Amino acid sequence: MSLNLKQNVKCPKCSQMSEVTVWNSITVKDSEDLKHDLLTGKVNMFRCPSCSYSALMPTPMLYHDEDKRLMISFSPCDDVVLKSQLFDNVQKSSKESGELDKLEGYNLRFVTDYNELLEKILIFDNDMNDKTMEVIKLMVLSQDLEKAEQRVCRFGKCQDEVIEFMIYDTIENQTYTSKVPKETYDTIHKQLLESGMKPYSFGWEMVDASYATRLLNGFNN
Ligand SMILES: [Zn+2]
Repeated sequence: MSLNLKQNVKCPKCSQMSEVTVWNSITVKDSEDLKHDLLTGKVNMFRCPSCSYSALMPTPMLYHDEDKRLMISFSPCDDVVLKSQLFDNVQKSSKESGELDKLEGYNLRFVTDYNELLEKILIFDNDMNDKTMEVIKLMVLSQDLEKAEQRVCRFGKCQDEVIEFMIYDTIENQTYTSKVPKETYDTIHKQLLESGMKPYSFGWEMVDASYATRLLNGFNN
């Protein structure tokens, strides 16, 4: 069930008070419209009616897609230490509550970045797995190894059997696109599964570039 609450927020720029609807939980089944709002960056986004200042609300949110057996725990945060603490908390509380027993065959993801949340939803909507996608993203970035550190690669879309990635260069302040045949994804996905990668979770997972690096080093889940 999708859950929200109203919060009175003071604009950090002009101090005007306004009411914001904050979503703590989004279940796709009963709120397709809400999912659309999420994908267009409108959910939990504060926008001041007076000065138009906008910012993401610091509220954690749980995204649940029963059909895709996907659950994403989103805790907005850009601090590395805090991120790891939040992840520990999520893992600990799910073990204590016993919720994992009910989530067999699910993919459980923990993310702290709004764009990462949207990216994962899109990947699963395209019937692909983010674990394999993270490995392919490493390959895409390694095409220009010198600049890999300064670039962020995100899944864009999959159309006509071609996967398109958006690459943002933080130094050049430029966005590039890179294309990979869907066939490459299928081949690598099969190889990763054969080498032991699990296409579902046994607990909450952080699937990112470091996960993909560990996977390539022979670590399986
Ligand atoms: Zn304002």
